[in-house]
Amino acid sequence: MLELAQARERMVERQVARRGVRDDYVLDAMRGVPREVFVPESLQEFAYDDAPLPIEAGQTISQPYIVGLMIQAAGIRPGDRVLEIGAGSGYAAAVMSRIADKVFAIERHGDLTELARGRLQKLGYDNVELRTGDGTRGWAEAGPFDAILAAAGGPAIPQALKDQLDLGGRLVMPVGPTQDEQRLVKVTRTGANHFEEDDLGGVRFVPLIGEQGWPDADAARRAPEPRAFEEPPVEASIAALIREAAEPLPDLDDAAFGALFDRFADARVVLLGEASHGTSEFYRARAAITRRLIEQHGFTIVAVEADWPDAASLDRYVRRRPSPKHAEPPFRRFPTWMWRNTDVESFIEWLRGWNEDRPVEARVSFHGLDLYNLSASIQGVLDYLDRVDPEAGKVARERYGCLTPWASEPQAYGRMVLTSGYSRCERAVVTTLTDMLEKQLEYEVHDGDSFLDASANARLVKNAEAYYRAVYYGAAESWNRRDTHMFETLCAVLEARGPDAKAVVWAHNSHIGDASRTEMGLVREELNIGQLCRERFGRDAVLIGFGAHGGEVACASDWGAPMEVKRINPSRPDSYERLAHDSGVGRFLLDLREGVHDPLRQRLLDPKLERFIGVIYRPETERWSHYSGCSLPQQFDAWVWFDQTTAVTPLPTARREGVDDTWPFGL
Ligand code: SAH
Repeated sequence: MLELAQARERMVERQVARRGVRDDYVLDAMRGVPREVFVPESLQEFAYDDAPLPIEAGQTISQPYIVGLMIQAAGIRPGDRVLEIGAGSGYAAAVMSRIADKVFAIERHGDLTELARGRLQKLGYDNVELRTGDGTRGWAEAGPFDAILAAAGGPAIPQALKDQLDLGGRLVMPVGPTQDEQRLVKVTRTGANHFEEDDLGGVRFVPLIGEQGWPDADAARRAPEPRAFEEPPVEASIAALIREAAEPLPDLDDAAFGALFDRFADARVVLLGEASHGTSEFYRARAAITRRLIEQHGFTIVAVEADWPDAASLDRYVRRRPSPKHAEPPFRRFPTWMWRNTDVESFIEWLRGWNEDRPVEARVSFHGLDLYNLSASIQGVLDYLDRVDPEAGKVARERYGCLTPWASEPQAYGRMVLTSGYSRCERAVVTTLTDMLEKQLEYEVHDGDSFLDASANARLVKNAEAYYRAVYYGAAESWNRRDTHMFETLCAVLEARGPDAKAVVWAHNSHIGDASRTEMGLVREELNIGQLCRERFGRDAVLIGFGAHGGEVACASDWGAPMEVKRINPSRPDSYERLAHDSGVGRFLLDLREGVHDPLRQRLLDPKLERFIGVIYRPETERWSHYSGCSLPQQFDAWVWFDQTTAVTPLPTARREGVDDTWPFGL
């Protein structure tokens, strides 16, 4: 409940107020009405998203912002009598009922009217009267009205509605000859036969069907969801421009594959994304690019979206370093297939081979930037201190004692902090790290690499403590702590390997594509490692995104559930993916940097939807679970495209016959 209340508060602040709805009556009313009650149960987790959502009877609940905008435009005040045409879910009527004296709402679909009536009753909003019927004729017996709102778009304003406006009354309605040419119009009655009209801008609403609206036969043809100020329909010529600019990719095993990326090799950090955590092509492409950057361009660091202590076991394997006392087999926690798969295995084998004849300082290291494996990191710090400074080890053990009861279920720690109201272990974990950093010079004499490992673990413990505390304060805050941690860890590794060190990063598109150019940053105030790298390294950071249209993906239906291989839905018509698919080129590299393909870049700048599949994939609610608005050429410097993809092949988590004991994936 608390989370929903916070999400609602954020929705009002970011999506509605910040876009220019400043009417306190509207904002307060929206703060009070639980939008989750008005959407189908399966979509409740999206109730506060910045989007319209599908509801029963094939209709939609309007985007929150558009509800706020319309009610503000209608200037609804206490004491008003209001009429709404197109009650749908009942949400807009509910919001208006928190301001006005009485709300009358008409809905064509009887089942929607019933659902809306039940919801309003449950909430105890008893000043709303609903009926099923054709709203284009208005509700003469209940009028005249101080305000009339139509939540569906018609060819013109129905005369009946104008007639039922009181003197000084305001009517707000989308009007236009087609769905793509609707304008939001405000009409104010200034005299018996006088009306003033204002144009409030372009919109897209479902059609108003009725006697003074569109004929019913058109319904199917005009059915897309309403969304304010959306893009004009996709133009075929963008796909043609992509076809021209696309550089077809050779076979993944062909040396020429990596060579196409030589143009980015001057950078200090090359960040390679992925559009899912379970697509083989993304892993193999990143391996091919990374091999090239290592072989030809002096990159010596590979840093990935995995936990530090787990990646550290692979690092010991590829750099042929000894294993510590308590080394656990890595990557045994959900989602195991993300790193424990045959594509990662081949790449790790290649890295080990590459390092074999090289001097220790020239070997390529492999690191994890993520912060989830708290217990292994605590152990890593203690093992190290016990070895180099047993006194400090004792102190750290005591300090971490605060956190160890929670190490295997850190979410419980976050919950406890929230209820007890103070950050119990914060000081303990911060001082452990700062004490260690203060003694860096002294400790490093023993072995610089071990110091890097131990301090990275101590940093992980500190940042994970803060992360789990933040989880309960809101998604953006915890996300930001996680990505800031990834960035800090990357910088620590770069620094440890010297001023000329160059790194390749592998992480999901949502981490490496500049968040400030996507809904993540613009609406949810989330940042990410890609954005932080651009801010720190400027042009010396290159962000390369990945995308796909269809095929298969390894994923789960829920957190902690078993891995499945699912078919990916074909990409949506209003997405970047569909434009790439329509280019007809099966796989390609698209250079998005300024000055390369400017006419295309220009056309791609306007935000469109982009698909994000993580560990979880839910094709049933794909639009709301997986698509988000982005400006592709601002988000990435380049985009790697695979029209059709295959799932990764997971490695067994049980011991394999005949596997060398030193192989870290062997159990
Ligand atoms: N205000 C709603 C938005 C619903 S979308 C909400 O907040 O959820 C528009 C609704 O208008 C649809 O449910 C559609 O069935 C309805 N509609 C379309 N033409 C109508 C008409 N002539 N009379 C009444 N309702 C109509």
